[in-house]
Amino acid sequence: MESILINTTDETYPVIVGNGAIKELPNLLRNLNPSKVLIITDTNVDALYENVLEDHIGREWATYKYVIKSGEAAKSFEMFYELHSYALKQELDRKSVIIAFGGGVVGDLTGFVAATYMRGVPFIQVPTTLLAHDSAVGGKVAINHPEGKNMIGAFYQPKAVVYDSSFLQSLPESEMRSGFAEVIKHSLIRSEPLFHFLFAEVRRLDDITTEKLQKMILEGIQIKADVVSKDEKELGLRAILNFGHTLGHAIEAEAGYGKLSHGDCVAIGMLFATWLSNKTLGASLPYEELSSWFKEIGFPIEVPESQTTEQLINKMKKDKKTKSNQLTMILLKEIGVTTSEIFSEGELYSLLNEWREEKRGDKG
Ligand code: NAD
Repeated sequence: MESILINTTDETYPVIVGNGAIKELPNLLRNLNPSKVLIITDTNVDALYENVLEDHIGREWATYKYVIKSGEAAKSFEMFYELHSYALKQELDRKSVIIAFGGGVVGDLTGFVAATYMRGVPFIQVPTTLLAHDSAVGGKVAINHPEGKNMIGAFYQPKAVVYDSSFLQSLPESEMRSGFAEVIKHSLIRSEPLFHFLFAEVRRLDDITTEKLQKMILEGIQIKADVVSKDEKELGLRAILNFGHTLGHAIEAEAGYGKLSHGDCVAIGMLFATWLSNKTLGASLPYEELSSWFKEIGFPIEVPESQTTEQLINKMKKDKKTKSNQLTMILLKEIGVTTSEIFSEGELYSLLNEWREEKRGDKG
């Protein structure tokens, strides 16, 4: 078992990682001395691990559970309101603790409920997806608006993250791949050695052994922890975590939430950002190798044909980081070294079109 400390201005909290990490949950709760405990999970996780958390927590605290429908659509106003109503009905108070038991959807939604219920109650993240090695760490919590992903939210740190890798055994391949995209992102923005390790050792998802999984989770969390500790509120450095996300989020939103996985969209976004880095910064990134590797793993490597460049640029303009129609893209000078570059709407439109044309040409 490993423990990584996240330091932010308001909180220092542990991310406990390993097989069996869940055993630490009662001790963490005891330190918080909750009046009541509310577990929020989703239908898939509940079907697989129905009483697992309750069995670990025991009967020390009055414990409630709310099961949301699985999927991105749950990060909605309606579900947010529903959870508040449920918490009020069960008479949770400011000393109550909320536990997010699930993937990034459960974590983001639960965290935002915890951040706002009675102006904030403590919460613990118990992530169950590979992607959540990213989403559960760093305190970004949110729900979606039809106009854009994660548009309503807060920076609100959990009291602890308990990452028990044994939960990942039941993850379907598509979700493993989605999470792997964020692991690749962490390596590309911050760690050349991790990138070379992944590139050499994980040609297909089947290559991910327990040891490799443990290494990538730990190093991914370490990178996220380091960035978040230096810039909790995304005033500067933290923006590098958006590598691949400006286009990725636009594709995801344009498709309709939940139609394409977050990681698949981020993978397309990372390919475009890599191509753009070579094209506009004169970087020498292994774009072709990255593209073939992504294809081997099973990632989509181009924007869906049904989405027009104009639609995507319009969505990108709605990104929270967009200022007066200037689009900011996180690019790479080299593997592990990022830079933030500003493009006008017209420039990015032409470049995205050029990339898409080039890809169409490759196929033709
Ligand atoms: P998710 O929570 O929807 O989980 C993916 C699917 O896997 C769901 O169907 C879920 O029910 C199922 N599942 C979860 N755990 C399982 C398990 N152990 N076994 C079998 N099935 C399981 O999605 P996700 O990919 O974990 O997270 C995506 C979300 O995370 C997006 O909303 C994205 O915006 C958000 N995100 C947030 C941050 C952040 O910093 N807050 C960072 C990255 C992504």
